[in-house]
Amino acid sequence: MEIVRTAAKLRAWSRGERGKGQTVGLVPTMGALHAGHASLIEEAVRLCGRVVVSIFVNPTQFGPNEDFARYPRNFEADCRLAEASGAQVVFAPAVEEMYPGSVEGGDGVGTFVDVEGLSGRLDGASRPGHFRGVATVVAKLLIACEADRAFFGQKDAAQVAVIRRMAADLAVGTEIVVCPIVREADGLALSSRNVYLSAEERRQALVLSRAVRAVEGLVAEGERRADALVAVGRAVFAAEPGVRVDYAALVDWGTLLPVEVAGPGTLFAVAAWVGATRLIDNAVI
Ligand code: AMP
Repeated sequence: MEIVRTAAKLRAWSRGERGKGQTVGLVPTMGALHAGHASLIEEAVRLCGRVVVSIFVNPTQFGPNEDFARYPRNFEADCRLAEASGAQVVFAPAVEEMYPGSVEGGDGVGTFVDVEGLSGRLDGASRPGHFRGVATVVAKLLIACEADRAFFGQKDAAQVAVIRRMAADLAVGTEIVVCPIVREADGLALSSRNVYLSAEERRQALVLSRAVRAVEGLVAEGERRADALVAVGRAVFAAEPGVRVDYAALVDWGTLLPVEVAGPGTLFAVAAWVGATRLIDNAVI
């Protein structure tokens, strides 16, 4: 497996492979790879002849009081997982490579991608600037890689909506593929941030998947009204008072706006603080 550090080299490699008739898949990550990331890489291997995993802890998607500095980083283990999952390339650029203007000695100039409207909804409402950073870095990765397909997890459902819209609006020639949520045996959605949880918080964190399952259960019984579905989700959270809900909402997956009645393309999404750790989960109804 090859490690590539610059966008120019990534593009040259990708063009070379596509010139030989290969399809190229891109799996963007921030590292600290786990079985959720592995499932994306494996799906990319299934659908594409060549697979790139990008590993970049993107500073522009973290708020000033968020965990950028302490975000888990483990490059060697990540490379082993990427290779074992079937990737041919790890793209691991430095911050200066991705944001030349914004680093020390840079000219302070930079281009950003803002998906208006969507970027202020769900996680974007409580994390101002987050989706601007996400849309910008993913656009840069898509431009550098010229992949046929790029793979994202449903776990970050609002992010998926932002990226789909960005890719459509900019007419990016890369197909966006969304993969299902990988969970621990007890239901907790895998996340690089789960390592922050104490044993007690790890137990409390199960309330997110419990709330999602409760709503799915009610839908299976035939309930479609948003107020009834959201009330059930919130009641599950109320039984775990140590966890603070950020949002619990029934929304359209395309617009991230609330719906009154669940239908095709409806998402039940939750975000909550477990101690100092913010976790998310969701289900497509
Ligand atoms: P991250 O490294 O957290 O930015 O995640 C990189 C990609 O992996 C994103 O597309 C995430 O949605 C996806 N991902 C993270 N956790 C999971 C999971 N538990 N199941 C499936 N995909 C995931």
